[in-house]
Amino acid sequence: MDIKKIREQEIIFLEENTKRVLSKVPAFIKNKEVRLLGQITRAKLKPIKLLEKLYTFMDETAEFISEYSPCHKGCSSCCNMDVSISDIEVEFIEVKEGIKREKRKSPPKNNFGAPCPFLIEGACSIYKSRPYVCRKYSTLARSEFLCDISIHGVDIRYSTVHFNNVENSINYIKNKSKSYKIYDIRQMFKRNKLETNI
Ligand code: SF4
Repeated sequence: MDIKKIREQEIIFLEENTKRVLSKVPAFIKNKEVRLLGQITRAKLKPIKLLEKLYTFMDETAEFISEYSPCHKGCSSCCNMDVSISDIEVEFIEVKEGIKREKRKSPPKNNFGAPCPFLIEGACSIYKSRPYVCRKYSTLARSEFLCDISIHGVDIRYSTVHFNNVENSINYIKNKSKSYKIYDIRQMFKRNKLETNI
């Protein structure tokens, strides 16, 4: 079978599996998700603590999704493309990992095919502090096939189990912390500098 046909079949599976997984989200996760935004907006906490709360919830959803996803340690296709990050997420990495951002941000550029500075020997070296976008995208495809940038170029297919309150919560935290600008992670952290620390 040719690549085009395989790709079509894999995309059909991805779309069907995404619907299937959505229908299986356990009630306790759904209920937490319903309450999440209210808890975050009412909590008298600093934005970085709110972000930690949000990440904790996302870790729970990730644990559920992992049963249906081929994502695993050592597969890093999604770490070789743009990785958006806001100031509050940068601050989270600084505080939790003890790594300082670059004093002078490099200009934005196309990062397709360039590894994230935190990708060390095929794995994320700041997994517990990784940005929002890295937590959000996990594929629900049958295999890693649709994530392979050497086959599909920029037309990579991921899927996410979308939670409205998660999206609204990150937006609230960004606004509260005045993290209005979005950067690429490579503008904020440099690989060479990190390798001496990690
Ligand atoms: S922060 Fe970690 S998960 Fe995110 S792109 Fe970089 S290496 Fe990958």
